[in-house]
Amino acid sequence: MPMSEQSSETLDLRAALEKYFGYTSFRGPQEQIIRTLLSGRHVLVIMPTGAGKSLCYQLPALLMPGTALVISPLIALMKNQVDQMQAYDIPAAYLNSSLTRAQQEEVRQACLSGRVKLLYVAPETLATDHFQELLQQLRISFTAVDEAHCISEWGHDFRPEYRRIRSLLRNVPPMPIIALTATATPRVQADILENLEIQDAVIFRTTFNRPNLYYQITPKRSQQQTLKEIVQYVRARRGESGIIYCHSRKRVEEVAKTLQTNGIKALPYHAGLDSATRSKNQDAFLGEEVQVIVATIAFGMGIDKPDVRFVIHFDVPKSIENYYQETGRAGRDGLPADCILYYDYNDILKLDRFLRDKPASEREAIVFLLQEMAYFCESGQCRRKMLLRYFGEDYPHDHCGNCDNCRYPKSSFDGQSIAKPILESFALLGKYPLLPVLEHVRGSLTEIAGQTLPTFKTLKNHSLDDLKAYAAQILMEGLLTRDPQDYSLVLLSQKGQTWLQNPTPLPLYKPYDRTPREDEELFLDDEPLHDPILLDMLKNLRKKIADAHRVPPYVIFQEPTLIEMATRYPITLEELEKISGVGPVKAKKFGQPFIELIKKYVEENDIERPPELIVPTNTRRTPDWVEIIESIDRRIPLQRIAERLGLSLAELIDRLEMLIFKAGIQLNITYAVQQMLDPDRLDEAFEYFMQAETDSLDEAIRALGNDYTEEEIRLVRLYFHQQALAAMR
Ligand SMILES: [Zn+2]
Repeated sequence: MPMSEQSSETLDLRAALEKYFGYTSFRGPQEQIIRTLLSGRHVLVIMPTGAGKSLCYQLPALLMPGTALVISPLIALMKNQVDQMQAYDIPAAYLNSSLTRAQQEEVRQACLSGRVKLLYVAPETLATDHFQELLQQLRISFTAVDEAHCISEWGHDFRPEYRRIRSLLRNVPPMPIIALTATATPRVQADILENLEIQDAVIFRTTFNRPNLYYQITPKRSQQQTLKEIVQYVRARRGESGIIYCHSRKRVEEVAKTLQTNGIKALPYHAGLDSATRSKNQDAFLGEEVQVIVATIAFGMGIDKPDVRFVIHFDVPKSIENYYQETGRAGRDGLPADCILYYDYNDILKLDRFLRDKPASEREAIVFLLQEMAYFCESGQCRRKMLLRYFGEDYPHDHCGNCDNCRYPKSSFDGQSIAKPILESFALLGKYPLLPVLEHVRGSLTEIAGQTLPTFKTLKNHSLDDLKAYAAQILMEGLLTRDPQDYSLVLLSQKGQTWLQNPTPLPLYKPYDRTPREDEELFLDDEPLHDPILLDMLKNLRKKIADAHRVPPYVIFQEPTLIEMATRYPITLEELEKISGVGPVKAKKFGQPFIELIKKYVEENDIERPPELIVPTNTRRTPDWVEIIESIDRRIPLQRIAERLGLSLAELIDRLEMLIFKAGIQLNITYAVQQMLDPDRLDEAFEYFMQAETDSLDEAIRALGNDYTEEEIRLVRLYFHQQALAAMR
C-alpha cells in the first residue's frame, strides 16, 4: 500500500477510490471533505443517512500513515462496517466488549504491527486502561467520531460516555478529528464542536433531500384494517426487505405474529427481548433470512442495510426528526423506496397521555414536537418541502412529484360552513374535548354538557372521520387551540374569536381515500432494462456466497451492482470490474462464480449482450437518478451533468424521459430548455407540440427536423409535457 506522505492537493483521490472501492466518482462533497481532512484540519460532516458519510474517513485512513481511530456507538454497527471493509480487502478491525480476551489480544497485536488502518472502538472501550495503554504505542492518523450527535442532550440519542471522548484522547499527539452526524439542528452542531474542542473545524453540510424516498401518510382506520393493508403490501413485495415500526412491544409482537401467520417471514425486535434474541433477529434480517423486521424505535441505529425497500410506521413517530431518521433507513442504495405512515390523531393523544408524569418543561417541548408531527401528517402540502423546511432547507419547488400530496393532490374548498358551527360550539362550551363536540354537530350525540346547542345536527351530512380531519386542520390554522394544561381539551383561540366575528374564506383539504391501487408500482419495477430472472439468480448466488463468508449479502455486492450485472451481462473479470461497485479487488475476490453464472445464462438463453461492454469505457452505468435530480434542482447545464456522469446528451435525455414520463417525477427543466434554444425556436417547437395529434418523436422529427437536433426536439417535448401537466393542476 503506498503510504508516502503526498501533498493532499496533488493526490489522485479518484484513482484511490476506484482502486479500493471500485467506484469511479465521489458523491456530493466527499472529495472535498477527504482533502480537508488530509490537509490536517478538523472537519464536521452533517449529511443525512445514506449520503456516504463513512467513505469520508475510510478512504483517508488508507492514504495516511498510521491507524485511524473510529469511535462508533453501537457494537452491531461496528461489526457490520468492519465486515464490509474486509470484503474490500481493507485492513480494519474493532475492539469492544463482544470480543473474547484472545480475540482482543489478536487485534491488539495486529494494531501494533501496523497492519490495521482503521480501528473501530466503542467509547467505553476507549476509557479502559488497556486501551489507553495501546493508544500510547500506536501512530494515530486521525480520529473519526461517528454518530457525533450522541454528544448532545439535544440530539435524539444522547450518550453520556460520548462527552468524555476528547479527554480520553488527551495523551495522543495532535491529530485532526472528523465528526460525522445525520442530525442537523444548530444546537446539536454547536454542542459537537464545543465538546470535541474543534470549533475551528471546516463544516460540510449537504442537502437532506432524499429524492428516491416516496413519502405517504395513510389514514389509520382501524388496527385490523391497517394490519390487512400491511399484509397485502408486504406480500406484493416478495424478496424486498422492510422495517415496520410500532410504539409498543405488544404491538410489535402482534404485527410480527400476523405477518408470520400470513406466510411472511418476519421477526420482532424490541427492548423486552434478551440481547441474544435481539441480535439473532437482527442478523436474520441483515442476512435476508427474514423479509421484515417489526420493531420499536430501539431498532435501527445500528442498521446499515442499504437495500431496505420500505419503512412502515404502524404508529405515528414522536417528532418529525424521528420520522426523518426512521424513514432514512430506507433506500440507502439510492434506489426507490417507500415510506408509509399510518396516521390517527388518537395516537398523538395516546403519546401525550404517556407524558402526564413528565416535568412540565420537558413535557412542553415534547408536546410541541408532537403537534408539529400532527401538522405534518394532516397538511396538504408537499411532504418533502415540509421536511426540508424543518431542517432549515428551502426546497425550490412547490411539488416534488414523489410524495402522496404531490401525486394525489388534495383538493381544497372553502370550509367556512364547516368551521363556523364547530367554532360556535366551543364559543358556548369553553374548554371541551373535541370528539363529543363533533358528534354533537353531526347529530349522533344529542346532549353535550347537559344541553342541546343551536349547532346540533348542523353538519349532519359529514362523516365523523371527515369532521375529525377538518377539525385537525382548523386546529392547525390556529382557530382552535389545545389547552396547554390538558392537551385533550380544545378551546377557541383569540384568532378563532376574531374569525367568528368576521368569517373569511378558509381553505380545507378534503380527506381522501388512499387505498393502494394496482398502478402505483414504483418506476424501477417496470423499468425493462434489467433481466429479472438473471437478477434473481444473481441474488441467490450472492446469498450463498454471503452465507459461506458469514456476512450480509450486500457486503458481497450491493443491489444496484447486481441490477447492472443483469443489464450488462459481464462475462469476463475485466468486464465485471467495470460494473460500478465492483472494482478489481471484489472482482478478484468474488467475481468468478458471478461471471460463470452470467456466461452460462447468456449462452443458454441466446442473449445478445449490449455492445458497450465489448469496448469498455470508464463511464458509470448505475442509474444516476439521484444525482440527476439533484443536478437539475441546482440548475446545472445539461451538458455539464452529462459530462459529469459520463453520458452523451441523448443518454441523459433518456434518463430525464424515464424520470418525468415514467416515474412522474416533477423536474423543473425550464432553465435547461431556455439555455439550449433561443426563444423563437423554442416557441416554434412548443407550438408544434400544441398542434400535433401525437407526441410521437418520429412525427416531430419529420415536421421539425431540419431546424432542430433530435435532442432539442426531445427536450422541448419533455418541457411541453411538463407545462401541460402544470396547466392541468
Ligand atoms: Zn411532494
